[in-house]
Amino acid sequence: MTANNGNIKQNRINIDAALGILAPTGPFSLSFKGFEARKEQQLMMGNILEAYNQDQIALIEAGTGTGKSLAYLIPAILWALETKERTVISTNTITLQEQLLHKDIPLIEKTLNTTIKTVLVKGMQNYLCLRKLSEMQQESLLLTPQENEELDKISAWSGSTSDGSRSSLPLAPSQNLWERLSAESDTCNRTQCHYYQQCHFFKARRQASEAQVLIVNHHLLFADLVYRAENDQAKDAGILPNYNRIIIDEAHNIEDIATEYFASHISQLDIMRLMARLASEKGGKVNGKLPLLKEKIISHYRNNFSPKVSSIQNRLTIDLPGMRRDLLQHTHEAFKLFAEFSKLAHETEQNSPTENKLRIYPHHQEHVRWTQQLMPSAKQLNDSIQRYAQGLKAIIEDIKQLNDNALDEQIKGILFEINALANRLGQYATAISRFTLEPTPVNTVRWIESQPLKLMVNTSLVDAELNITKTLAECLFNKFSTIILCSATLTTDKHFNFIRKQLGLTKEILGDRKIKEYTYDSPFNFIEQAMLAIPNDLPNPNDPSFIKNAAERIWQALLASHGNAFVLFTSHSMLKTCFELLEQRLKDNLYHPLKQGDDDRLALLNKFKKTNRSVLFGTDSFWEGIDVTGDALRCVIIVKLPFKVPTDPLMQARSEAITARGGDPFMEYSLPQAIVKFKQGFGRLIRNQRDRGCIICLDNRITTKKYGQFFLNSLPKCQQVFIPSNNLKSCMEDFYRRTHFLTKKMS
Ligand code: SF4
Repeated sequence: MTANNGNIKQNRINIDAALGILAPTGPFSLSFKGFEARKEQQLMMGNILEAYNQDQIALIEAGTGTGKSLAYLIPAILWALETKERTVISTNTITLQEQLLHKDIPLIEKTLNTTIKTVLVKGMQNYLCLRKLSEMQQESLLLTPQENEELDKISAWSGSTSDGSRSSLPLAPSQNLWERLSAESDTCNRTQCHYYQQCHFFKARRQASEAQVLIVNHHLLFADLVYRAENDQAKDAGILPNYNRIIIDEAHNIEDIATEYFASHISQLDIMRLMARLASEKGGKVNGKLPLLKEKIISHYRNNFSPKVSSIQNRLTIDLPGMRRDLLQHTHEAFKLFAEFSKLAHETEQNSPTENKLRIYPHHQEHVRWTQQLMPSAKQLNDSIQRYAQGLKAIIEDIKQLNDNALDEQIKGILFEINALANRLGQYATAISRFTLEPTPVNTVRWIESQPLKLMVNTSLVDAELNITKTLAECLFNKFSTIILCSATLTTDKHFNFIRKQLGLTKEILGDRKIKEYTYDSPFNFIEQAMLAIPNDLPNPNDPSFIKNAAERIWQALLASHGNAFVLFTSHSMLKTCFELLEQRLKDNLYHPLKQGDDDRLALLNKFKKTNRSVLFGTDSFWEGIDVTGDALRCVIIVKLPFKVPTDPLMQARSEAITARGGDPFMEYSLPQAIVKFKQGFGRLIRNQRDRGCIICLDNRITTKKYGQFFLNSLPKCQQVFIPSNNLKSCMEDFYRRTHFLTKKMS
């Protein structure tokens, strides 16, 4: 093991004494009426303490209701009190972060009569950059009326906000404007910045450096891990202050997040947005950093220009706008060709019309359209970007050569940002050239992706790592002393083989590093509280008649549950069709249908919780990370088993890699992934001991296919009925009648 501190620590915490905290006669039981000492929670806490004492990696699956957050927070806090060492706790959802910060940690502090400095750390772009705000205020004459209106509101808020964080802003700013106002690593001139002392981000960073517990999301954790890996663990040089112990909750989606984080991704919109920050024309006005720079130079010299200043002004007025026009045109042309190529290839290869990702194979790169159109166009774009970036750098250099300190003082922030944006343009050019001109490297999968937006179809070029296990070992598993990975869904078919293989938690990758596994069942009585109903006469989900049939079963189920239901889909198109089939009928019968995409996720959820008889139709993000307790949610309908689209480039390439080494990609990859997601969907229903409800699975493959048993085996033991569709409603009504008493139970 090569943990940060390089040596194995002696036991630091007396586990037996610590476990007393959660014992039936311990401080939690004594302080809180209704606190129930749970064996699973104590066991989990003991195992985590052991992982701290003995520098271990631990994989923990803890069913809903185990009380896992207290089971890991108490060790993190005891460890900090004992050793002064910091723990980073990473979660996937804001809901969980808020629960830890505002509920669980204050509860532990009160019970143990102690205080622990805890900080929720957000990514840099969540903070207002005061320098950029000031620069944009000076640009106000160049902004459109709408931009000025938004800017006025943000300026007013900036005078009163204590944290400068976007979440405390009482309006949702347009993404374009916030991008131009938010703090960013490469455009921040740190101690050189006039606002450094007041800077919201650095204030938060200083608070974090005094904290013993840091709460972050998975993206920020990975940003920090990558930064540390690239900067060779320079002392306290990460995005987060140094730490040596990590707890990753909601760890089941770490593979997806890490893959996305390590991927290279460049889109037409990325280039256009960046260009707009330098200069953009709107409503007959030109704004951005370059027009602002020009204005500053004019007002500084009051038209009393030396030849050198005149040359700079000419280039700002004539040369750079000309280069900008060329660059925008070449961007448009190149990405149009990428989109056309993708469309043509999909048609030729007879891919599904809903396919929006084209995996790039060598035969694509040898195609005449690639070699004779795309390659020259990408090269032209690359040249344009390089020319523009060099033009920007040359202006910066020439301004420096003026040796005018008073001017430098006024524009140093602007120049710093222009330089950072020029560097970013250079990185974009490299990524486009690599994508177009070089063969796909080993262990990488490459694709063109089209995403329809309101006003355009955004085309992206992506290079993603096929196997992230070595990268994870280098930047995470071999670097930290204690790493706890926990979730309610880490096992498939009762073992951890899948997650271990995907994350590289194996002997081949990590050698003798100690990895422990623990599973704790949920303390809830699923046999009493939940019924899984599977209609056994529906067509296969791939049959064209499936959606219509499924919609009828959904309707029957909703009649039985009186709404208060989630209907979970695996694709937007099926969601849309089903919603259209049912929407009017639901409204006519005083139900409240809600559809993902009609509002943001949180707003939809709040509506759902507050409105009786509501029915929420959702895909991906509604399968997990949602906590609706009580009668507000009494039915979850899983329309299709959540297999990932087999044509997804990553999915396909990973499956091929398994086949190439003689494995079975379905059993080793697709199935376990789907089981984890299925367990997440199932887990939405029972959130406490008074909850009860029905899970309806409309995908008959769960009974007709051999692999269906693996899904069923992975669920907690509950009532399971396999019935003709006609009996679904009465069977559910009977269940609700029988379990009504649960809703009256005291918590
Ligand atoms: S220190 Fe950086 S982030 Fe903070 S105000 Fe200055 S430029 Fe913006």
